[in-house]
Amino acid sequence: MSSAPLLPTVSNFIRTIIDNDLAAGLHKNIITRFPPEPNGYLHVGHAKSICLNFGLAQDYQGKCNLRFDDTNPEKESEEYALSIQEDVRWLGFQWEGNVHWASDYFDDLYRFAVELIDKELAYVDDLTSEEMREYRGTLTLPGKNSPYRDRSVAENLDLFARMKAGEFADGARVLRAKIDMASPNINLRDPAIYRIRRAHHIRTGDKWCIYPMYDYTHCISDALEGITHSICTLEFEDHRPLYDWVLDNLSIACHPRQYEFSRLELHYTITSKRKLLQLVNNKLVSGWDDPRMPTIQGMRRRGYTPAGIREFSKRIGVSKSGNSVDMAVMEGAIREDLEAIAPRVVAVINPLKVTITNYEGALTREADFHPNHPEFGRRMVAFGPELFIEADDFSELPPAGWKRLTLGGEVRLRHSYVMRCDEAIKDVDGHVIELRCSIDHATLGKNPEGRKVKGVIHFLSCAHALPAEIRLYDRLFTVAEPDADREVDFCSYLNPDSFTIVWGWVEAAVQDSTPETAYQFERLGYFCTDRRDHQPGLNLVFNRTVTLKDSWTKS
Ligand code: ATP
Ligand code: MG
Repeated sequence: MSSAPLLPTVSNFIRTIIDNDLAAGLHKNIITRFPPEPNGYLHVGHAKSICLNFGLAQDYQGKCNLRFDDTNPEKESEEYALSIQEDVRWLGFQWEGNVHWASDYFDDLYRFAVELIDKELAYVDDLTSEEMREYRGTLTLPGKNSPYRDRSVAENLDLFARMKAGEFADGARVLRAKIDMASPNINLRDPAIYRIRRAHHIRTGDKWCIYPMYDYTHCISDALEGITHSICTLEFEDHRPLYDWVLDNLSIACHPRQYEFSRLELHYTITSKRKLLQLVNNKLVSGWDDPRMPTIQGMRRRGYTPAGIREFSKRIGVSKSGNSVDMAVMEGAIREDLEAIAPRVVAVINPLKVTITNYEGALTREADFHPNHPEFGRRMVAFGPELFIEADDFSELPPAGWKRLTLGGEVRLRHSYVMRCDEAIKDVDGHVIELRCSIDHATLGKNPEGRKVKGVIHFLSCAHALPAEIRLYDRLFTVAEPDADREVDFCSYLNPDSFTIVWGWVEAAVQDSTPETAYQFERLGYFCTDRRDHQPGLNLVFNRTVTLKDSWTKS
């Protein structure tokens, strides 16, 4: 059902349940769903849920629906709904048939509410929300019945119809399920199932002024779609008795089962749409797709790959115990994918100019774009009388064991000559601003005679290099769990050094790359051309996706 390649299967408790259900003949095929609310952009936690739900459908040759839980009109928008569809597809998944919307079921949901009233299992309550809170009780104290709880069926039907007809003010009345005000589970203390809210809805417009509550809507939507396994995060565990109560009491043949797993928390970032929205609204990031954001759009713009994110979801697993994961797990998965697919090129991001004093015309060599992928092709490695090298590949007073360039020392220029540094030119403050070097003309593709040169550094020919804007990203927060302490505003932990722009140089081979092209800049990391700002041939803009674990010359 999906274009994503199959990942090797790792078992988890949900798969065990599915295996047992299939073996027992409970279902022939499984149907899962991913049910986002279109009230923000998806984040890495949602990516996990997407990979889980769509991944299960894929592995078991079942189906997975995409259903928008659009019951909160004030917070929802078409922009969010479109971005969510784009994100699911980008991750490599395709939902079954059309997109579903909870609002597709508003008529059914209304009809089922009438059924509950008819069965004396729902009533219209006139208590104010404050009174309702008082009557609800606490974790240790039972609630008490509302004085309106025993209204007749006829009166409830009449009032509910008039709620729908718009006779009452917003919040003046609610429809509540009649369950048990003394239940130890507060979710069962006569939860509201419909509220009055005059809000324009992105799909139903002004047709409704009453909207069903999430818990009531979700289980019925699942049942109407024939979902077999309704998988959600652990905070819904205590809502499961309500999920079951609603379905047990309605004339719907299908009764999906809800299973809960723990939410993903990723260190040094946050996984809450509300808090991410706060970062966007307060302009603490450049937008939902800021490459530092843990949103799918942000990760995409930064250069994370769908296969890398899917691999990450596989590695972190699915369970009921805490799922607080270090960023290194994500970075490892991304790096592994990029290692295999990104052509390797040269960029210099902190340039130091080198003049070759014995330059006698250009001899050049060809180099592969990837050592293991000859099919990626080759390009000429340009050489010239002036070069750029990384400033930190030169040291005047090198530490012990230094293998890179120093005064009087030699290095191999990657894919090119052996070069000796003869002189360092300094500015008035004593900073090295240029090196004067000479090359050994006999060393192009050959070892030097009579000596060993250990270090290898990368370089670019100034005449051939192209200027590029290079955006370096670091962790968005300075602490692993920025929202762990309720007393402290998570924004106070923002990392002021999480974004730096440098102007560097890249080799001409990348000139025509389209946006979202991944490269390894040798020794520097994985980079990708920016989705928004990169213009092939005109304005080269690269985002650092992730650094390299090891550079090929360590010193
Ligand atoms: P947030 O708390 O960030 O607003 P949410 O749970 O309200 O997220 P929904 O749009 O309701 O967002 O989520 C859609 C699906 O994604 C739900 O099934 C939800 O359980 C799942 N999900 C959301 N956050 C995470 C997470 N951190 N880890 C795993 N699954 C998640
Ligand atoms: Mg939610």
